[in-house]
Amino acid sequence: MKPVIALVGRPNVGKSTLFNRLTRTRDALVANQPGLTRDRHYGIGRMGPKEYLVIDTGGLEPVAKEGIFAEMAKQSRQAIVESDLVLFIVDGRQGITPHDHVIAAELRKARREVILVVNKTEGLNHTVAASDFYELGLGEPETISASHGDGVRQLMDLACEKLPELPEDEEGGHRIKVAIAGRPNVGKSTMVNTLLGEERVIAFDMPGTTRDSIYIDFERNDKPYTLIDTAGLRKRGKVFESVEKFSVIKTLQAIEDANVVILMLDAQQEISDQDASIAGFIVETGRALVLAVNKWDSLDEYRKERIKTELNRKLVFLGFARLHFVSATKPFGIGAMMRSVDEAHAAAFAKLSTPKLTRLIQECVEHQQPPRKGIFRPKLRYAHQGGQNPPIVVVHGTALDAIPDSYKRFLEGQIRDRFNLAGTPLRVEFRSAT
Ligand code: GDP
Ligand code: GDP
Repeated sequence: MKPVIALVGRPNVGKSTLFNRLTRTRDALVANQPGLTRDRHYGIGRMGPKEYLVIDTGGLEPVAKEGIFAEMAKQSRQAIVESDLVLFIVDGRQGITPHDHVIAAELRKARREVILVVNKTEGLNHTVAASDFYELGLGEPETISASHGDGVRQLMDLACEKLPELPEDEEGGHRIKVAIAGRPNVGKSTMVNTLLGEERVIAFDMPGTTRDSIYIDFERNDKPYTLIDTAGLRKRGKVFESVEKFSVIKTLQAIEDANVVILMLDAQQEISDQDASIAGFIVETGRALVLAVNKWDSLDEYRKERIKTELNRKLVFLGFARLHFVSATKPFGIGAMMRSVDEAHAAAFAKLSTPKLTRLIQECVEHQQPPRKGIFRPKLRYAHQGGQNPPIVVVHGTALDAIPDSYKRFLEGQIRDRFNLAGTPLRVEFRSAT
């Protein structure tokens, strides 16, 4: 499990600029996927000595009482409570504002570990820029420039020191770790109940008040699985509907920890930015993925066609994943969905031998050479497997920087086909000798 850092602060102080800097490596890659919203709010932090999850809580507006903004504010507050460390960002050019005081008070109440970060201090006297902010009562301010990068490395060294050591994932052996992810009310708990059967669920019944997900071992057709339950379980007739039932952080950590994620969508709703955002995070972590459109029982033919069109349009970047139309209540489609989970798991852990990969690479080159770029003609020599879940293929050669994206996609497609990699993201990396 990875610890969690929340970025908090009023609008325009530089939270998303900092977020992008902390998560950048894969961010560019993910943001370039067609169809994926650029407006991402969570990612994997890679700057500093440890990996962590970063959440940009957006603007913490004290005013919204209902509607989507109130829902966002609620999730932001929940993220603060569930995070391990808060970076509270203020604007060193503008100085302290009343809104900063409101947020500071809220953070003190939440009793989180907080680092006060004074942003936009490039070219300023740091001591002077920081002095204004001592009165927030949150300790010594750290000065940075998120856009120029000054001080960010030091800040993250300090932040990582304050993060707790969370238990390492133990190797689950042959059990398939499955998480069901999705926004509130798509039917996750119902699906958990259906998958496990009421009897089992009651035995594990407990209100999900802590941030930790519940791990449940179960078998289906003699295959062992561990279900990572983010939804919180329910007793028959009695619902533990705590405010915290849906938790972004729980969802992110469950995705991180799973081998295969079932991303559940609601056939009765439009596909939302939140769906796409969770999907983007799954791709970023490299987890194997099965898409399940739930509540299919409740649609007429017209709606069915409409949602299929919408899926094609909005989730094109998930083309590698199998898609199932299911019902958790009827129930139907669940057997096929679980077979795709098995298939995706097998793909995620596929063994790709060096001779086979190398032969495939050579066949690709014979079929179509990578184009020359200026005086450079990329030469692909051999390939080996660099990791699992997701599979990573490392291609060696010369001038590989000059390989265009279209050719990378061609290689990826060929590798996918040859090794039956349905259901898992695939990473192809290039290492040039020169
Ligand atoms: P958010 O609303 O808190 O997410 O803020 P943004 O990251 O969108 O930044 C708001 C504005 O501040 C943008 O115009 C940024 O370019 C600018 N900004 C962010 N970081 C810095 C910085 O370190 N120095 C300066 N001068 N401007 C910055
Ligand atoms: P969660 O928040 O994702 O855990 O969603 P729940 O499992 O609490 O389900 C939200 C609502 O959707 C409940 O009223 C369920 O009865 C309903 N629901 C769940 N699955 C289905 C389904 O397959 N078909 C229909 N028609 N309704 C469903």
